[in-house]
Amino acid sequence: MFTDVSGWSDLIGEAARRFATRPHRLFINGAWCDAAEGTTFETLDPASGTVITSVADAGPADVDAAVRAARAALESNAWRKMTPIDRGRLLNRLADLIEANAQELAELESLDNGKPLTAALNGDVAGTAKMFRYFAGWPSKLEGATIPVSPSGGRTFLNYTRSEPVGVCGLIVPWNFPLSMAAWKLAPALAAGCGCILKPAEQTPLTALRLAELIDGAGFPAGIVNVLTGRGASAGAALVSHPGVDKIAFTGSTQVGKNIARQCADSLKRVTLELGGKSPNIILPDADPAEVAEAAATAIFYNQGQVCTAGSRLYIHRKHFDRVVADVASKAQSIRIGPGLAAGTQMGPLVSSLQHERVSQYVDIGRSEGGTTLTGGGRPHDRPDGYFFEPTVFVDTRDSARIVKEEIFGPVLTAMPWDDIDDLVNRANDSPFGLAAGVWTRDVKQAHRIAAQLKAGTVWVNCYNVTDPASPFGGFKESGWGRELGRKGIENYLETKSVWINVA
Ligand code: NAP
Ligand code: MG
Repeated sequence: MFTDVSGWSDLIGEAARRFATRPHRLFINGAWCDAAEGTTFETLDPASGTVITSVADAGPADVDAAVRAARAALESNAWRKMTPIDRGRLLNRLADLIEANAQELAELESLDNGKPLTAALNGDVAGTAKMFRYFAGWPSKLEGATIPVSPSGGRTFLNYTRSEPVGVCGLIVPWNFPLSMAAWKLAPALAAGCGCILKPAEQTPLTALRLAELIDGAGFPAGIVNVLTGRGASAGAALVSHPGVDKIAFTGSTQVGKNIARQCADSLKRVTLELGGKSPNIILPDADPAEVAEAAATAIFYNQGQVCTAGSRLYIHRKHFDRVVADVASKAQSIRIGPGLAAGTQMGPLVSSLQHERVSQYVDIGRSEGGTTLTGGGRPHDRPDGYFFEPTVFVDTRDSARIVKEEIFGPVLTAMPWDDIDDLVNRANDSPFGLAAGVWTRDVKQAHRIAAQLKAGTVWVNCYNVTDPASPFGGFKESGWGRELGRKGIENYLETKSVWINVA
């Protein structure tokens, strides 16, 4: 009814095809239902711009139903009295189901978002299973402390702390890594014992809906996870303002993140924010130019440049500048662009026509500010349809240029030479963002010194875009509040209670 499947139906398996071609509903209290107002919207294949299928468009009434369901599930004996080992067992079972359905999930992600199938399979889906697997070990390790207090007046107390779930959590995620961003939030929230309402981005709802089926299949109690497809301005905003939500975890743009923080201030809801970046990638004079060119290209062009940590500001020591820039440009030209599902594709389309427009505008701005594109800069000639954009390399930019300052969220690199290391560190830190940074050197002392000086939540030395469920991730400055993953990550979903017992 909705679908022009001619472009992609032959490229995916039967399971993904069946899932992608039927209309989808909301997952509330363990059941599938239409939006209260009966509204729907369409999700598109960014490789062709054609409709894949329709999904329910949640509004405030649906948010209210999901919040009530999550609250009831959270307070039910089925969840409250479940042992930590059993909660971990559910998370492991979900990881098993994700692994068993990996190919289907990867096909859905590639279709809906546009990313290459191999990246979806080996990156997004594998990482998602790993995330649930890692947090499956946490429920039984959420220990409190016994505190040696010093009361006056000869009294005696036993004082201890309890780590309790923060409550009902609204999890709002973006379209660049739809499934894995959902896992980054659901896994620690469930490990902590919270109730969850997940709102995927409107551009990429499919894998969150398939994940809901797997969550159901794993045996989580009804209502503990609800999935509401819908728009940020309606479903997202209703979740943020709902008095029954205790915490919001958001990944997305800095602008929306700031709005959410303002709204959460009214109710003092807990809030964590993973926002934008404009990350410096720094090449020292002793680095191997051949090795770093390849790595610098991957650091910016991976996922079509739609990565919050993308290495978008490449600072190359002047000694290597011409060679490395030429090599990065030639790598950019050799990247095979095509539909994510097509065999051999290394770079898919951008996620939407809006994103294509934003990236195109930034290229125009960069040129008007005096920048030169060494390669790329627009739609590939052989891709008249879909939201394809060439990998693009700018040189001759001033540090004050907007394309050096602002997050583009597309495959656009600015390469800049440097001479003095202290001056370079200042330039690298001269940004409202502070999400990540890369350093390429064989000098161990320099590596540690610069890693300490960079104002960024993650510093990668001789590597880039590496993450792990056990290692904290998040931003300095306007790149966010709080850290996800690891021990720090699960603490976002816990409240600490101090209990005093008079034992005199
Ligand atoms: P966005 O608007 O920040 O979207 C992120 C999520 O927030 C989506 O689920 C979105 O829903 C939701 N949302 C939007 N407005 C909301 C509101 N008022 N209240 C609650 N939730 C709301 O990001 P975008 O428009 O998709 O992308 C814009 C720019 O953000 C990009 O160009 C890029 O610079 C940046 N971005 C950064 C990241 C990151 O990982 N740091 C990820 C994505 C985008 P809908 O999508 O349904 O509207
Ligand atoms: Mg889509």
